[in-house]
Amino acid sequence: MAHEETQEKNGHTATVVEQGRFCLARCTCGWRGPARRARSRARTDAEEHTEAHTGEDAGEDAGEHPGDHIGEP
Ligand SMILES: [Zn+2]
Repeated sequence: MAHEETQEKNGHTATVVEQGRFCLARCTCGWRGPARRARSRARTDAEEHTEAHTGEDAGEDAGEHPGDHIGEP
């Protein structure tokens, strides 16, 4: 049973690794997420990291989509 979950997107391969009693996400680009007590949280960090690189402008914690324009009638 593999305890690793990999999120791969746009060349970023983030993997959730266990470190002692904590879990954290690590990416091939060198990024490292904070230590989480829950593996699901670390996986979310990995997802957010790879998702952040989906656009050309990678924000730290961008919650809005710059390209989402709502056309007025
Ligand atoms: Zn990365």
